[in-house]
Amino acid sequence: MSQAAVVQFALEPLAVELREIAVPEIGDTDVLLRVGAVSVCGSDVHQAYNTHSWPVNVPVVLGHEFAGTVARAGKAVTAFREGDRVVSETAAEVCGVCMLCRTGRYNLCPTRKGFGYGINGAMASYVKVPARCLHAIPDTLPFELACLAEPHSVAFNAMCVNSTIRPGDAVVVLGPGPIGLLCARMAALAGADPLVVVGLTSDAPRLETAMRLGATRVVDAQREPVEEIVRGFQSIGADLVCDASGASRPLDLALALARPDGQVTKVGWSPDLVPVNVNPLVQKNVRLQGSFSHNYPVWERVIHLLDRGLTQPETIVGLTSPLGEWREAFDAMHSGRVIKSVLIP
Ligand SMILES: [Zn+2]
Ligand SMILES: [Zn+2]
Repeated sequence: MSQAAVVQFALEPLAVELREIAVPEIGDTDVLLRVGAVSVCGSDVHQAYNTHSWPVNVPVVLGHEFAGTVARAGKAVTAFREGDRVVSETAAEVCGVCMLCRTGRYNLCPTRKGFGYGINGAMASYVKVPARCLHAIPDTLPFELACLAEPHSVAFNAMCVNSTIRPGDAVVVLGPGPIGLLCARMAALAGADPLVVVGLTSDAPRLETAMRLGATRVVDAQREPVEEIVRGFQSIGADLVCDASGASRPLDLALALARPDGQVTKVGWSPDLVPVNVNPLVQKNVRLQGSFSHNYPVWERVIHLLDRGLTQPETIVGLTSPLGEWREAFDAMHSGRVIKSVLIP
């Protein structure tokens, strides 16, 4: 049996095409998942334009943000069966025996390989998934929203696990991309106030979305004095600055905006290596925290938030199209016309 899939076939710009490939065989502990919806991640777009900062095993099927139905379950799978509606975590391969795997931090396993760059992903009709990656979703949660559980989990882990936010904390989010906007939403849910989201002039529509998601002020960093505005709310600086810009340079700004004894959480990354003044980190006793992916309890919580509509996921989806129109869906995100595209295989 064969199926259409969005395949990255080389490490060069635009080396992605719709190809006929075999429906995967599954092992005893896997399920074959019929993909109901797969959202396009900024990282899929980066891979398509060859501007990513992580190793990619080509050829590979793109897509790691997906939801669907169990079409077939391996012999040893007990927790899920045919017909179950599920979402899948992204750690397709982990060693299972290192200290991180054994303590539930398998997302940080040094041998981790994720769907869509290390292992074939979900921009296809079917994807092979180890049953340990799955979470059941309620019937009330449509696949088109459930597939967003992955970026939600990135944001929840960054803002609600790796950072501390108390009601009334002054929080700044740098970069209103999909992850930055979801980080802002998580901060709003956690009680951040003021909640300032900072972008560029070209981010105007995204900054409007940030206001709908709970920002109390948005700032165009190319036209307005960011630091002055933030210090207008709290003169000593922000309790927490989240850098979701996907670049290295804004870490300078994040460190400048954080208050003494404040926090900076960095969730976006890029291939550019730039010099950054880290002296404020020491001088202000700032806690600098990286945040990478997510694990089981984060997903369970996010599925609840999504199902209750608390994160307003529909606000960030600008385009839903059939898998065959993947190129338009990628381009719409690349050009900034939509924040997030969803593909239906
Ligand atoms: Zn993603
Ligand atoms: Zn491990």
